[in-house]
Amino acid sequence: MAVPKRKTSKAKKRARRTHYKLQVPGMNTCANCGELKLSHRVCSSCGHYDGKEVVSNTAE
Ligand SMILES: [Zn+2]
Repeated sequence: MAVPKRKTSKAKKRARRTHYKLQVPGMNTCANCGELKLSHRVCSSCGHYDGKEVVSNTAE
């Protein structure tokens, strides 16, 4: 089994981990209102999904 030759330094380890959570996964902009929403979910601000209004009681 391959074994690392040197211990990974704190700086090296931390530099690698800076990329771990830069983007929120599965986030998209709504096609109807442009708000940030989760992909494959109904938009929370306007209630649209795939160009159609699915939930209508959001803006009453
Ligand atoms: Zn929307």
